[in-house]
Amino acid sequence: MSAAKQIPIAEGLFSWPSNDPRLLGSKCVNCGVVMFPAQKSCPACCGEDVEVIEMARRGKLWTWTIQSFLPNRPPYNGPETAEDFKPFGVGYVELPGETRVEARIKCDDVDSLRIGMDMELVVEKYIRDDNGNDVMAYFFKPVE
Ligand SMILES: [Zn+2]
Repeated sequence: MSAAKQIPIAEGLFSWPSNDPRLLGSKCVNCGVVMFPAQKSCPACCGEDVEVIEMARRGKLWTWTIQSFLPNRPPYNGPETAEDFKPFGVGYVELPGETRVEARIKCDDVDSLRIGMDMELVVEKYIRDDNGNDVMAYFFKPVE
């Protein structure tokens, strides 16, 4: 059996394939505001001179909530079924000097989440699509 092909959930969100994947944001050359996902112009100064940057891999949990039931599908397309669903965290991670990024939190024990805890970006399999590809998505995990 050959390994499934890994494809990113969307182009331009993170560097992939990579041993050190990073989220791709945009930084305004004029005023320095960083946005994620990357945007073509700056929401702060309306400047159109923005550059794509690789964002910090680590940040701090700014706030979160716990998704405690299986979301309606569509739009939700996650891997769980009603039988194996487990509550998961969804939060904002503040990347130092950059911006806050909303992401699903990968954590075995959602009760252990704390504001300000160190978090690290990971890119992992999200679902397998109908063509047998592993669809890769970004998550944050508590730093061990
Ligand atoms: Zn700007």
